[in-house]
Amino acid sequence: MINLDRSNIKKLNKLLTDKKKITIITHVNPDGDAIGSSLGLYHFLINIGHEVYIITPNDYPEFLHWLPGNNNVIKFFNKKSKSEKIINDSDLIFALDFNHIDRIDKLETYYQKSEAIKILIDHHPDPQQLADITFSYTNVSSTAELVFLIIQELGAVSKITKESATCLYTGIMTDTGCFNYNCSNPSTFKTASELIEFGIDINNISTSVYDNYSMDRMKLMGYSLNEKMKVYPEYRTAIITLTKDELTKFNFKPGDTEGFVNLPLSIKEMVFSVFIIEKKDHVKLSFRSIGNFAANKFAVNHFNGGGHLNAAGGQTSLNLNETISEIEKLLRKYSKQLNNAL
Ligand code: 5GP
Ligand code: MN
Repeated sequence: MINLDRSNIKKLNKLLTDKKKITIITHVNPDGDAIGSSLGLYHFLINIGHEVYIITPNDYPEFLHWLPGNNNVIKFFNKKSKSEKIINDSDLIFALDFNHIDRIDKLETYYQKSEAIKILIDHHPDPQQLADITFSYTNVSSTAELVFLIIQELGAVSKITKESATCLYTGIMTDTGCFNYNCSNPSTFKTASELIEFGIDINNISTSVYDNYSMDRMKLMGYSLNEKMKVYPEYRTAIITLTKDELTKFNFKPGDTEGFVNLPLSIKEMVFSVFIIEKKDHVKLSFRSIGNFAANKFAVNHFNGGGHLNAAGGQTSLNLNETISEIEKLLRKYSKQLNNAL
């Protein structure tokens, strides 16, 4: 059972009683939950009569472009003055799927400056105080599930449209790795079940997200596992690295490496997987763990990042080889925790 803060629900209910101009924002490099929860809320708010916009800091992978309402998402990086005007004119801003201000990149200034009432909906640990009304629940699978639970508490489930349900289900599905992790609370399955009641096509949703990649991506995955995965059995860890040139060789498109970081964890007794990718001006890291090895602490302490216990990310200004050496050094330091994680 997830018990949402009653006074927050009351406040939100009051705010939504008359027509408002609303902006929904989410984090940089949006994932399935960021876009799914934002669009899910968007369709709901439009259906109850509000004027609603979604602004993302940058673009997101093609496997999310099929979502209903996708064409209405405004990307700040190529619509700066339009975004600024919308934010300035908004009565309410919903901040979804992040809880640290640096996660919204260049939108930060506009968010901070805005006099709109801000409502944060998120499920990451260690929230910063960023909003007037905060729904922060780390025991909820996804922001999309939390959006559903809030709508439920508002007594407005009947106002959820099929489009909204499709987007919310997508958010839950992607953030739980198809109901494989972060979903031991029965609430997640109850929510999914209620969303299916809206007549959504869950086979089509799954196929649209997971079976829609290019052949290049499949080959890049094979190459990553065959040529670029280094396993450290003594630390129950695997590292995969990809250089800029390798990505170019496989015609890399944003989203192509999505899910690669999870792959090594299907090796028996692995507890930690690190995926390192060379970007134009920095190195980006993704971390996944099993059991009680805290991927987010690792990311926060050493790579200027954050995330959940078992799924986190970060970045560094070290080059690729230096990053690998640094991780190897850290693996020695964390050897005990890694070996006692299960
Ligand atoms: P991914 O590995 O898929 O990029 O990210 C996994 C999780 O870590 C996500 O829940 C995301 O919120 C978090 N995360 C990824 N990169 C960063 C980062 O640079 N900073 C913070 N605070 N969290 C991150
Ligand atoms: Mn999420």
